[in-house]
Amino acid sequence: MSQDPRTRAIRAGLNTDRSWNAVIPPISLSTAYRREDPAVQPAYDYARTANPGRSLLADAIAELENAAGAVVTGSGMSAIDLLLHDLPFGARVICSHDAYGGTRRLLDARSSGGRLVPVYVDTSNLDAVSAALNEDAALILAETPSNPRLRITDIRALAKLARNAGTELAIDNTVMSPALQRPLDWGADYSVQSITKLINGHSDMVGGVVCCADPERVERLTWWANCVGTGAGAFDSYLALRGLRTLPLRAKAQCESAQDVATWLARDMRIAHVDYPGLDSHPGHDIAARQQDGFGQLISIQLSDSAASARDVVSRLDLFTLAQSLGGVESLVCIPALMTHASMSPQARQEAGVPDTLIRLSVGLEGAADMIADLDKALG
Ligand SMILES: *Cc1c(COP(=O)(O)O)cnc(C)c1O
Repeated sequence: MSQDPRTRAIRAGLNTDRSWNAVIPPISLSTAYRREDPAVQPAYDYARTANPGRSLLADAIAELENAAGAVVTGSGMSAIDLLLHDLPFGARVICSHDAYGGTRRLLDARSSGGRLVPVYVDTSNLDAVSAALNEDAALILAETPSNPRLRITDIRALAKLARNAGTELAIDNTVMSPALQRPLDWGADYSVQSITKLINGHSDMVGGVVCCADPERVERLTWWANCVGTGAGAFDSYLALRGLRTLPLRAKAQCESAQDVATWLARDMRIAHVDYPGLDSHPGHDIAARQQDGFGQLISIQLSDSAASARDVVSRLDLFTLAQSLGGVESLVCIPALMTHASMSPQARQEAGVPDTLIRLSVGLEGAADMIADLDKALG
């Protein structure tokens, strides 16, 4: 198979139908599969365990991520949770301090009762990670670029630290998708992500995936996904595979528009600060240029003191819809402190650099000039 992600994404699962030679793999909604012989385990048996469409989606994502295999789950959160199942009781988990709000909520909830001990550090600061590794940790869960501040962690350097400490490394790759970043190529053990975002790209299903470098981990996590029943449904898997076909093209176009929008914002006096890894001024620009195939479609901004309040600005936007997701074909805007990161305590948000006034833009596939005109109008 070609190495070109466009070819891989388009051809994934085509011509695999054995019933009617359908070019596009059909949706198999049956929960049960007939056996020829009670003693012989068929490829498909019961839909919690495996579903043909879910398997095709897992194979397609694993191929794009250069992984040994992948486990597709019903949400990004259940994919992250799947990673935690084999950790020993009381294991320390080092997590990016500015990780997705739901990730922190999950780790904090698992910490009550002592199941896990989360340790939040700025994972883009390797000295801070080294210090946290002075005490044994079972897992590092890092987000790069982090959301919403888009801090960049050097995955290769972090993987080296993790390996020396005997700790596994998982990268939350949601903000990039395999079209823009392949963490396993830089030494990570897992790439975990929400399929809901860029991979599906059409904002009409929820799903997640764990990609593993080690085939034994694929087997183990597949076992857990069946045991606890976290596999994605047949219809959602179908939608995600359909969305994935255009992922490389969408991601590239969204990166181009985001670069235009970020460049415009960075020059505007009404904006005090722009976070976008594609700007030379971004502290992680050089690492991002090396380990990513694009700078992504998220931009975070802070307004100048003299400007209107963040809430006024988002309410005046028309093209950017006020909603909390990212990575879709439609442009969205959110205020993370009030929306995606509302479950964090005010103190945790302050440490992570998520002020109440931060605005996050998810750049879609509309024309960049239209997006800029909308922002210009809303900034007043
Ligand atoms: C959305 C998101 C998740 C959670 O994914 P769901 O599909 O909503 O469960 C995890 N990590 C990041 C970075 C996200 O943006």
